[in-house]
Amino acid sequence: MKDFYSTYLTSLMQREGNFFSRSFQSKGENIFHGEILDSEFCDYTVKLVKEHIYNIDKFVNPTNSMHSSAVSTQELGIKNFVDTFAKDILEDVVNSLFLNRSKIIFDSIHSYIVRYGAKYDRELGLHVDDSIVTMNLCLNDGFSGSDLILNGTTCPIHMDTAIINNQEICIKQKKGFMILHAGKNRHYVTPIESGERYNLIAWCQNNDEKNKWFEALNNNHCLDYCEIS
Ligand SMILES: [Zn+2]
Repeated sequence: MKDFYSTYLTSLMQREGNFFSRSFQSKGENIFHGEILDSEFCDYTVKLVKEHIYNIDKFVNPTNSMHSSAVSTQELGIKNFVDTFAKDILEDVVNSLFLNRSKIIFDSIHSYIVRYGAKYDRELGLHVDDSIVTMNLCLNDGFSGSDLILNGTTCPIHMDTAIINNQEICIKQKKGFMILHAGKNRHYVTPIESGERYNLIAWCQNNDEKNKWFEALNNNHCLDYCEIS
């Protein structure tokens, strides 16, 4: 298994410098969508998750519903691959694509795989991520519904205010395609209508940004990038 991911990483590193930034299409301010990883990667990873979940369900914790809907990349043994991919490849891409006042640095990466389906998580309510940039990569096809809806970058005090309908950006998940968005762009997932959807999520974090967020929360301040105020 390790061999698959290290070989895959080497092949990604050998791509032309602008392959990734050329692959992304802009969907809104600091929101990008593009075909980044191939079917082989997606199929291999879904198989890995299914085998892992099967083992957990059967042998370890049959009643824990958390484990049936999300599994960390650490548990799966692919955290190093995701960390390297995010830091060595996508950090540069993000800096060439995102409109920002200063260079974005990923201090740490928190990554996991989610599963949506009638028997698992069906949808997800409005929230922001604990990240400066989120990578959301769809690993399969054969489902309907379960769209990602983004509604504007927010500060902590405006994040729970009413949805602004004319600012909504809807993205349909597609196998091998990654959505890149600012972590503080609040978003939700519409109900899944059929099938199952597996996505690899990576929260790319930055300590200074995290501190700014909590400072604003504690002092009840809006932040300069907030689009909701
Ligand atoms: Zn605000």
